[in-house]
Amino acid sequence: MSFIELNNIVKVFKDPQRGTDMLAIDHIDLSVEKKELVCLLGPSGCGKSTLLNMIAGFEKPTSGEVKVDGKLITGPGADRGMVFQQPNLMPWLPVWDNVAFALKLKGLSKKDRQAAAQPFIEAVKLNGFENHLPGELSGGMAQRVGIARALLQNPAVVLMDEPFAALDAQTKLDMQEELVTIWQRYSSTIVFVTHSVDEALILGTQVVVMTHRPGKIRETIAIDLDRPRDITSTGFNDIKRHVLDLIRQESNLAKQDA
Ligand code: ADP
Ligand code: MG
Repeated sequence: MSFIELNNIVKVFKDPQRGTDMLAIDHIDLSVEKKELVCLLGPSGCGKSTLLNMIAGFEKPTSGEVKVDGKLITGPGADRGMVFQQPNLMPWLPVWDNVAFALKLKGLSKKDRQAAAQPFIEAVKLNGFENHLPGELSGGMAQRVGIARALLQNPAVVLMDEPFAALDAQTKLDMQEELVTIWQRYSSTIVFVTHSVDEALILGTQVVVMTHRPGKIRETIAIDLDRPRDITSTGFNDIKRHVLDLIRQESNLAKQDA
């Protein structure tokens, strides 16, 4: 049995305006082993967020089941941490208090929360910014707070939904590098959603290429390239060419369907 298992997942959304059914996910099976960094790659609207939200327990599959560590997922839990595209920080709380927000809800003292937050603030390289407010941070720094907040709960799985999509190119590269360091340091299991081929190939131990809507798995590709990934290497570009080809085929199929 794998650490994360998606078995025969189907998701149908009701279109509230038309009252019709919309098939978003069409029979997906996916297995993720412990300590993997799996990237779900696919065009906008193919169901990546829906799939991630089902692992998080925010959405329920219409049929099929999601299991993490052998347990059926029926709702959100502290074993699964989520990092969104927008970090959704509490604007009135300083960095350290945002990072330790889960502990505030548990009623821990300020001293204990600060002590608990510190190693994670250091892990995302925000030392010196502990007392800054979210409004005083750059986009990349705010996203680091979101990552530290997710890590603090020591989740078995970290779910990331296009967390770097809104960042500028250089910050994005820095954050990708740091994420790999954090993943290795904490031995995390990460499911990372992206629509960027480069990002998927820079990060992933595996890249799951999805089809256009309704989302199915087109192909799963193991990425056995050395880290840090050299995006100019022949190996990287051979895989990239193959993935781009799959995406081009999918995009043509989508146009035929439309
Ligand atoms: P992606 O993250 O790959 O861009 P999503 O998972 O957000 O795709 O969405 C997949 C499809 O399901 C889209 O057509 C989207 O409009 C639809 N969808 C997503 N969430 C809902 C919802 N809560 N209600 C109705 N339709 C939804
Ligand atoms: Mg999405």
